[in-house]
Amino acid sequence: MPKVAIIGGGISGLALAYRLRQYLADVDIQILESEKNIGGKISSIHEQGFIYESGPNGFLDSNPSTLNLSKELCLSSQLSPANDAAAKNRFLLLGGKLRLLPSSFIGLLTTDVLSLRAKFSLAMERFQPRKQDSSDESIYAFAQRRVGTEIAEKLVDPFVTGIYAGDARQVSYQAGFPRLAAMEKNYGSISKGLKASRKARLATNPESGRSSGQLWSFDQGLGTLTDALADRCGRSKIRQFQASNLKHDKDNKKWIVEGGNGESESFDIAVLSCPAMQQAQILKNLDEKLADIISSIPYNSLAVVVMGFRSGDVPIPLDGFGYLTPSSENRSILGVQWCSSIYRGRAPAGSVLLRAMCGGASRPEMVDLDDDVLAKMIYRELQLSMKIQAPPYFVKVIRWKNAIPQYMVNHLDKIQSIDETLTNHPGLYLTGNAYKGISINDCVENAENTAVQISRWWNRSKERSF
Ligand SMILES: Cc1cc2nc3c(=O)[nH]c(=O)nc-3n(C[C@H](O)[C@H](O)[C@H](O)COP(=O)(O)OP(=O)(O)OC[C@H]3O[C@@H](n4cnc5c(N)ncnc54)[C@H](O)[C@@H]3O)c2cc1C
Repeated sequence: MPKVAIIGGGISGLALAYRLRQYLADVDIQILESEKNIGGKISSIHEQGFIYESGPNGFLDSNPSTLNLSKELCLSSQLSPANDAAAKNRFLLLGGKLRLLPSSFIGLLTTDVLSLRAKFSLAMERFQPRKQDSSDESIYAFAQRRVGTEIAEKLVDPFVTGIYAGDARQVSYQAGFPRLAAMEKNYGSISKGLKASRKARLATNPESGRSSGQLWSFDQGLGTLTDALADRCGRSKIRQFQASNLKHDKDNKKWIVEGGNGESESFDIAVLSCPAMQQAQILKNLDEKLADIISSIPYNSLAVVVMGFRSGDVPIPLDGFGYLTPSSENRSILGVQWCSSIYRGRAPAGSVLLRAMCGGASRPEMVDLDDDVLAKMIYRELQLSMKIQAPPYFVKVIRWKNAIPQYMVNHLDKIQSIDETLTNHPGLYLTGNAYKGISINDCVENAENTAVQISRWWNRSKERSF
């Protein structure tokens, strides 16, 4: 019976443990998690009638991995789809005003958010030549090359903020936006690629009537998913343990996980699913080169400011997802989610719940501001952008130091070197959001792929030892 250590109890580690139990008979899995709470970045908090998320807010079903996993865990009745208006109406803060972002190609060609010149570039995108070589570039450079500077500035820059809280001029298009990269490669243009993917989606799921993904959470927040996974894995198999070092006992083919407090335990298989800098720290005595590559994956820090207002104090209709701010606007807020408009039950009757994101690549210093200073700054911004008339009666500030890994240009080269180096360490696996996708869907999918790799390796090595 293989004994497996999974270091890190976020969605990556939990999804891996769940799948591995299905693939390997009699496996003994221990999830070692440094914090008291399980779930990592996923944490749904219930307070004063509000349900707010400290980290992620939902997952799309355009990649079905999380939705399928939720159904498998018998959570279907607790799933909560985003409101239709939230799916359709997303705003940009431009020149201090909220402007509706068109949700279709035709909408983009008729909106007054873009100049005639930008619309012309967009219409001509399908005739732009494919990139001739396979070198990487930033998503900003990619957009500039295909649709011009204005669209890169007004649409792509806030899009990157919304996903990575990152700098579009530094995030890799190949690693950060693999679907766009594939569209250019396979269809020669993004507009042709989008059209094909909409058609395919409607063909495979005609009853949804949707040509793009639906956003999901649960009635009680995303913590429902990580709690259900923890229950399935067995709470007694989850230990509070801060891993600090990993050793390989080659003679006995065992991995020895050492903790900060002098504890140690040996395993047949070790998987690191904690953030990259912790992985690098744990691996540095085992393989300095591997640790160096992993530690070169940078992270951004974020502050999430949650605010509850009386509905009457918010004069604009909150019929949408929220808004994003292009970095050229130089505002304190990266974006605001109108949480109580996105999902049902997020705020008590007569109140609304908003969540502002700040910090990230453009304003990292904001994450270190005092709670009061930060909350006042956010409130002032909301007064300007949303004309809010009275201060919030509910405020929470969550700080995520090293919140989101940034897939910089040439990130895929690092992944290749890591994968090659790992072949020197049989029985050691790395997963988590630092490598092959940051969304919950990516984490679930990568964890599932890792479970397949581990079970194959274990079954092969067992055959060899007979
Ligand atoms: C503010 C915010 C908003 C986001 N919004 C969305 C969204 O709406 N949709 C979406 O799909 N994604 C979103 N994301 C991204 C997504 O939440 C994360 O990429 C994903 O949850 C990461 O999961 P993980 O398990 O890989 O890592 P983590 O959740 O970081 O889990 C790693 C775990 O390892 C533990 N750990 C660390 N060091 C050690 C150690 N030495 N020993 C043992 N354990 C250790 C940590 O305590 C943690 O529990 C968001 C992220 C943030 C921060």
